[in-house]
Amino acid sequence: MTRLAIVGAMHEEIAALRPCLEGLRSERRAGRDFHFGRLDGHEVILVRCGIGKVAAATTAAVLLDAFDAGALLFTGVAGGLADGVRVGDIVVASALLQHDMNAEPLFPRWEVPLTGRARFDADPAWSARLAQASRTLAATDTHAQGATIHQGLVISGDRFVATRAESDQLRALLPDALAVEMEGAAVAQVCHDFGRPFGVVRTISDRADDAAHGDFQRFVRDVAAPYSRDIVRAALHLRDA
Ligand code: SAH
Repeated sequence: MTRLAIVGAMHEEIAALRPCLEGLRSERRAGRDFHFGRLDGHEVILVRCGIGKVAAATTAAVLLDAFDAGALLFTGVAGGLADGVRVGDIVVASALLQHDMNAEPLFPRWEVPLTGRARFDADPAWSARLAQASRTLAATDTHAQGATIHQGLVISGDRFVATRAESDQLRALLPDALAVEMEGAAVAQVCHDFGRPFGVVRTISDRADDAAHGDFQRFVRDVAAPYSRDIVRAALHLRDA
């Protein structure tokens, strides 16, 4: 069975998963530590890619090429954009777009030159498993109770969106965007190039407004880290089912 890659941008986003790996072995490549092991019987590679699109793309390329990962799951936090996407909610990406890609007038806004597209679809089967796993978490975890699970467009760019003015602008330009983060669409493009399936799940840590940086660190450690662990494990179980 092919290895599944599990990726997060920040230490906290993968920290809770690492102790769950059996037979842990680590290898350093391109300045990153790739952790190989078994998670509930599945061969996985766990890695922190770093923040931003290039960091995510480099890591995804190593995973898919050097380590031949069969699929990639990205887990982490994001800022809520659409109305009703609140802190503590979970967003599963059905498609991803780079909101800071703009090669106009040579190409339409957001289109990635030579790919002919702006939106990259996540794998429907993995997305369905991540959504189901998130719903299970919301139904069973006392902290996650009341969380809404959303599925739709997630947008990425090399900016921490932390002002109301900027999130208003993104909402106006891309009204169907549910959440904004800094890596997902880069991973999506690399997986598209390699023809490998991927899924992206994000816990909403902030509303991408002037208060975005407030409790960010604490939220990632206390809430998003255990959510990531539980959602990924439940999604893996669903693959067996
Ligand atoms: N460590 C920094 C911020 C990290 S950047 C701090 O303490 O403030 C934010 C990370 O979380 C990125 O990996 C990104 O994918 C995600 N993220 C969460 N909220 C975001 C937002 N409002 N805008 C962009 N990225 C966001």
